[in-house]
Order: sequence, then structure tokens, then C-alpha cells
Amino acid sequence: MAGEPQADCLFCKIVSGEVPATVVRETDTTVAFRDINPQAPTHILVIPKVHHPDAASLSAAEPQIAADVLREAGAVAADEKIDGTGYRVVFNTGSGAGQTVFHAHAHVLGGRGLNWPPG
Ligand code: C5P
Repeated sequence: MAGEPQADCLFCKIVSGEVPATVVRETDTTVAFRDINPQAPTHILVIPKVHHPDAASLSAAEPQIAADVLREAGAVAADEKIDGTGYRVVFNTGSGAGQTVFHAHAHVLGGRGLNWPPG
């Protein structure tokens, strides 16, 4: 059921501590941790603690928590000091867009030049 922890979800296991991650920030509703395969000098994922498969379903079901994820993305950028030079917040949505983990997450990328459009 949406919102409930999913036994087969990697990011639910990071929330519970069953799978380790390098956590940089945590709130009542979110966890932020370093991406295991960074695509930029700063590459951090911000996830809601509740399980929803993607950002659209999260924001439809729990808009306040979606707002929490966005606020924490900004806080991560400030903590990492990439907010001055510019950074990118990405929600890959659907396998065709590169989503591989179906628990909503924001990528926060920065610390290098970022091309547009992304590949
Ligand atoms: O948007 P997408 O679903 O592809 O992003 C999933 C991200 O989760 C990848 O960037 C991957 O490197 C990251 N990941 C991680 N820790 C894991 C497994 C995946 O940071 N244990």
C-alpha cells in the first residue's frame, strides 16, 4: 500500500537502517544520503521516509512531504556550498527517464558545470 514500507524496496531499507548509507541530513519525514555512484562532486539523494514509487505519486498523496523533500534539497545544497555556483534537482520518473529505484527521490547534483539539456 502506498505510504507503507515495502519489503522489497531498497530505499525503505535505507530508511529503516537495514541497508547502510552515508546520511548527511535527516528530518522527521526525510533522509538525505550520498549517492553510491556519484555523477558529480556533490551527488546526494533526498528521499521521503514514506514509500511512494515516484515524485508524482508522492506529491499527489502527501504534498507536505513532497515540499519537505524540496526544502531539504535546498538545505543539502547550502550545506555542500553548491548553492552559490548552481546545482540541479532531478526527479527521474519512469524507467524511460532512467529511474531505477521506485521509491521517490530527488537527486541533488553540483560541484561541476552541468550541461543542458541533460542526456
Ligand atoms: O533516478 P534513479 O532511480 O536511477 O536513481 C537511483 C539512484 O540510487 C542511483 O543514482 C544509484 O546510484 C543510487 N543508489 C544508492 N545507493 C544504493 C543503491 C542505489 O545511492 N544502495
